Amino acid sequence: MTTFKSLGLNAELLKAVEKLGFETPTDVQDKVIPILLEQDTDLVALAQTGTGKTAAFGFPMLQRIDSTNRRTQGLILSPTRELCIQITNDMVEYGKAIKGVNVVAIYGGANIQEQANKIKRGAQIVVATPGRLKDMIKRRLVDISAIKYCVLDEADEMLNMGFYEDIKDILTHTPNDKNSWLFSATMPPEVNRIAKKFMNNPQEITVGTKNSSAKNIEHQYFIVPGRERYAALRAVVSMNTDIFGVVFCRTKIETQKVADKLIQDGYKAAAIHGDLSQNQRDIVMQSFRKKRIQLLVATDVAARGIDVDDITHVINYQLPDETEVYTHRSGRTGRAGKKGTSIIFVTKSDRRKIKSIENKLQTKLSEIQMPSAEEVFTSKINHWVEQVKTTPIKSDLHNHLPKVINAFEELTKETLIELILSKEFKSFDLHPKALEFSGEGRSERSSRRSDRSSDRSFERSDRKINAPEDKDRFFINVGARDQYEWTTLKDFLRSFLSLEQDDVFQVEVMKNFSFFSTHKKHRDLVLKAFDNLIMDDRKVSVELTKKGKTFSPKKNFKKKKFN
Ligand code: AMP
Repeated sequence: MTTFKSLGLNAELLKAVEKLGFETPTDVQDKVIPILLEQDTDLVALAQTGTGKTAAFGFPMLQRIDSTNRRTQGLILSPTRELCIQITNDMVEYGKAIKGVNVVAIYGGANIQEQANKIKRGAQIVVATPGRLKDMIKRRLVDISAIKYCVLDEADEMLNMGFYEDIKDILTHTPNDKNSWLFSATMPPEVNRIAKKFMNNPQEITVGTKNSSAKNIEHQYFIVPGRERYAALRAVVSMNTDIFGVVFCRTKIETQKVADKLIQDGYKAAAIHGDLSQNQRDIVMQSFRKKRIQLLVATDVAARGIDVDDITHVINYQLPDETEVYTHRSGRTGRAGKKGTSIIFVTKSDRRKIKSIENKLQTKLSEIQMPSAEEVFTSKINHWVEQVKTTPIKSDLHNHLPKVINAFEELTKETLIELILSKEFKSFDLHPKALEFSGEGRSERSSRRSDRSSDRSFERSDRKINAPEDKDRFFINVGARDQYEWTTLKDFLRSFLSLEQDDVFQVEVMKNFSFFSTHKKHRDLVLKAFDNLIMDDRKVSVELTKKGKTFSPKKNFKKKKFN
């Protein structure tokens, strides 16, 4: 059996392997590490995300650089800031036992001078997004003229994002005799073009079948009329109570709409799309990573670089135009050896797209029937029973037990359970049509009505915001400057704090800061959640406003909007 030792890793890296708990090399590591350790060669590796490719190029790079020389010797280009940070963190972990090694991340949206200072202190390995790197080269804040190793990670995504020209430009600043290692999940013609143009007779490694999706992903599709997509989504989520998933939509508006509906329906959901600031996206991603959000509703661009293990489901609310994009989407699940499901909602007329995905992936997609309202309900009850059975017993209730037992004495066990069930599920519509659009439309209309009425009630009071006794009013140091409006800030707070629709209210966004209210019972939760929260190199702080004070906006504060 291959071990990391037999692949040729040195003692320092083996220490890291042990610390990380990696037992055996993954397929891509098995194939790539010996080549990159022993040969001065260019290489193209086709490997999905989640296959362990960071270590496949990271271990050899760390082993081959001279850590006593402070010049930059290795460059890793990545499509997104999230992935850039992730790779840097991984590389730091892998190189922990190597004395003197320094890995620095440079990416847009953060302070350029701070990044330049880190580089100045000596960085043998630089991990960068193309835009920021190009900028720093131009300003002579980084020198890549002596690099020996250059990795293009997720090359297909970099090209999808329009980085071709930037990459071309960056490579002109690197020496010709470097080794280039290109990693890509798919091999579209553009990646081929890069390989041909910038690489010297590269060796090609394929993990799994070319362009095929990982074996541990099950692909399913539902035939759903377009207007019933949301009902279908709700049914899928209800049937999979432990779902931790990403829902892909095609437009920003649709993304926000679906997330809003899910939140209204009581799910922990949030949207991530290009209209959000980097800071907002960070908050969403952090909440998702920590599983405070169960469903992330995303556009393809915003989801690039989502590097979260354990995603159980990817849901294609709408199918993308290109099959390549479907491969990227589904690759978010089934990572690191885990099983995942990719679900597609497709209209009858778009059914042919399923065929083209099947051809591309060389695998059969299973058609699944929408569950009936009855099936969804059964699944909910089963989940509820499990939850009840595993609830930890609160010992301070013990003294009240005899009284309560006494109060229910004349009821049989059956009647008692029936009563509890009826109370628990009183709002669940068991009508067979409940999952269909007509039912959905009804609930949508009524929730819109209730939204409007809550808006109105605040409109009446926004000129003079009184903080009633059972409410707390908080100050938060993000505002319109961070591209928040009251609606988006409210969504973030709700998702981040895992609170319900009405638990965060009176959100008021000023230019540099904002205010919001919650019920007093959530005070600790709010203060704790924002304790030491760093986003975008900046501390997000939340403070209680002085008790009883009303807030009247000063003239020089630009007020954005009220809710
Ligand atoms: P990557 O494809 O590099 O993003 O890696 C995906 C996940 O697999 C990360 O969480 C890695 O820490 C993990 N991983 C990488 N190599 C191994 C290995 N040999 N054994 C177990 N887990 C690994």
